Formats: sequence, structure tokens, C-alpha cells
Amino acid sequence: MATRHEHHMVPLSVLLKREVSTERTIEKPDLLHGQASQSKKGEDFTLFKTECQRIPGDGNSTFSVFGLFDGHNGSTAAIYTKENLLNNIVGAIPADLSRDEWLAALPRALVAGFVKTDKDLQDKARTSGTTVTFVIIDGYVVTVASVGDSRCILESSEGTIYSLSADHRLECNEEERDRITASGGEVGRLNIVGGAQIGPLRCWPGGLCLSRSIGDMDVGEFIVPVPYVKQVKLSSAGGRLIISSDGVWDALSSETVLNCCRGMPADAAAEQIVKEALHSKGLRDDTTCIVVDILPIEKLTPSLPPPRKHGKGVFKAMFKKKSSSSSSHPEYTPPDLVEEMFEEGSAMLAERLDTEYPLCNMFKLFVCAVCQVDMKPKEGTSVHSGSSNLRKLHSWDGPFLCSSCQAKKEAMEGKNQSRDDRSNSRGSD
Ligand SMILES: [Zn+2]
Repeated sequence: MATRHEHHMVPLSVLLKREVSTERTIEKPDLLHGQASQSKKGEDFTLFKTECQRIPGDGNSTFSVFGLFDGHNGSTAAIYTKENLLNNIVGAIPADLSRDEWLAALPRALVAGFVKTDKDLQDKARTSGTTVTFVIIDGYVVTVASVGDSRCILESSEGTIYSLSADHRLECNEEERDRITASGGEVGRLNIVGGAQIGPLRCWPGGLCLSRSIGDMDVGEFIVPVPYVKQVKLSSAGGRLIISSDGVWDALSSETVLNCCRGMPADAAAEQIVKEALHSKGLRDDTTCIVVDILPIEKLTPSLPPPRKHGKGVFKAMFKKKSSSSSSHPEYTPPDLVEEMFEEGSAMLAERLDTEYPLCNMFKLFVCAVCQVDMKPKEGTSVHSGSSNLRKLHSWDGPFLCSSCQAKKEAMEGKNQSRDDRSNSRGSD
């Protein structure tokens, strides 16, 4: 009797719970990840956190983080960044946001977190630096922030390849060369005896091949930590992410990387990619690979690839823009479409911390937009102060920076020329 009674009583609550949980799991794919690494200098570090919570204590608000840090001139910067970056990013996101608001706040929080980490590291180490490829996955939304030359690519379930990171190598980034030259750095190749120039383009002083990194204080502040950020939403068919250090990309093309491990589960795929890279070029550098499979919830085995179609593996530079997106014409949305939600790579903080930011008024006015320190009224400097553009912005418009972050901003823009002896030609500013 009792069991019968129970049988009668329980279903409603159970059913309700199931209803809620299936509703939530529909938007949460399964993530399977694997990593492989071959070390030469021991300066590659990785971070995996698969149970982070947007709302502390709410198990339904989980998101996952995957990071790759390829250090140079020692591993201090890479280790410090691995240990502190996530906290600095999360600390820059206002509390009590809905999921959509949280996702919209991420690109700006990533910029603040990268700059704060770089700035805090200044006091701890001067000569080491690190690339960062930082991936945050919430449901089918993937947000990637990167500095340096590690890369993150995505293959959608139909086999289209998307690049989710920028390449901040001086050799292949003219825009960055111009920025550095304008900020007081010099770009050129190594001179050897006899005047011949060899090797890749480097930034002087210092001789770094990268234009952005965390750390590298000895090189010059025009090597900035401001990340390129891309945010995309996958279709519910999912996809595969490959995050690798330059040891892989110097040896293999994106297509080769994806093809060499097709059909393998994530951990075996990562092993295979590192193996292929070493087979092709030998162990010339630290070589690290992270593979993350984003799988529809019902698909518990790794996605076996569909038969390759014609035109496979074509890099798509163009994404479907959000403005013309599915919400207006859902009937025209093909099942496998990667929607671009955000993309920005500017090195200028005034452009990255501001404007069209949907949540401006939710920020406390008197908190530094980078380091989140409390400020007294009138103490902060607007990120637009000294800005030479003619947009309708005023120096009293927020967001604001504390004096220390303002000094950092000016240094990154090449406005502190104390490093060299050139006279200040910007005296009229
Ligand atoms: Zn600050």
C-alpha cells in the first residue's frame, strides 16, 4: 500500500525535476577533453576547469575553462598567469547577471583580466613572458581570448574550420608592426656580423617575435596584454576545438591537424596531433595540444565525422552575424551554422573597455575598470581622456581607471617615453 501510495505521490515532483533538468541540459552539451604535450624547455602550461559556476552554489550555472600558456625566458609568467588569470577575469564581471548578460560581459572582463594579470606580474618578474589562449565554454557559446602565437581552431560538425584566435607574430601581422612602431618600438631582424639580417621580425629593444603577451616587462610596454577576443555560438550539433602551441602550428596546417585525428576521442586525438607534429619537424620547441569535443547531449561517443564533403575544411572568415541572425528568420537557419557573437582585436583600452557595452549602468561608477579597486569620486581618469578621436565621447564619460591603471594604459600606448632618450614631441597634448 505504502509503495503504491508513494508511487502515486512521487511522480509529480520527480517529473517536474526531470522537466527542469532536461530543459537545462538541452543547452548544455557534453564536453570531452584530452591533452598531450612534449616538452623541450618545460615552459608550456595548461589549465582545465570544467565545473566553474557563474552563480556560486548553483550547479546549473556551470561553465568550463581551458587555457594554454606558452612561456618564454623562463616559466614565471606562464605559471603566474595560469594561477591568477581566471580569478581576475571573473572579478571583472558584475554580480547578479543573467546568463545572456554574463556572456555579453565576458569580452570586456577578459580584457580587464588580462591587463590586470600583466600589471600584477610586473612586480614579480620582469624578464619572462607567456602567450595565452583562454577558452571559456558555456553551453554552446565559446569565447576565446588570446595573446601571442598559440592558436585555437574550431571545426563545426559539418567540417568547416574557423579560426578563433589571432596571430600576434610580428612576422605575419602588419597592423601590429605599425602599432609598435607608432608606440616607440622598433621592428627588424637580427643583425649578424657582416650586416646580414636573419630570422623572423623582432621587436627592439628585447628581440621578441611577438607583439602581445603577458609579462615581458623588459621588452617594452608596447608589447601589450590586450587580447584578441572572439565569441561564437555553435549549433546544437557541436564541434571540435583544437588549442595548440606554436610547436604544432609550425609543423602542421589546420587541415592536417584535424584530419590526422579524425574519429578519435579527444585524448587520443591530442596524442596523435603532437605525434604528427614531432614526426614532421622533430622536437624543436615545447609542443602542446588540447582537444575539446563539444557534443550534443545524447551523443555520448565522440562525434564520428560525417563523410567529407566537397569543399571540406575551407576556412570561413565570414561568420553569420548576430544582427541578421536566426531570431528573425529561424526557418532559414541551417542546422550547422556558427554564429559570431563578438569579435574585437584592438590594442586600445578605450575601445575595449567601453561603448556599446550593454551593461554600463550596472557597473559601479567608482571602481577601476581594470583592477576593480574602489576609487573616490573624481579620483578616476576616464579611459577616453587624451583620446584624439572625434567620437562623441567626453573625458568625463566612464568607464574610469585608477591612477596606476591609467599609467599602465599610457605606457601601452607609447605615451611614457622615459625608456629611451627621445625628447617628448607630444608636448602639446
Ligand atoms: Zn586600476
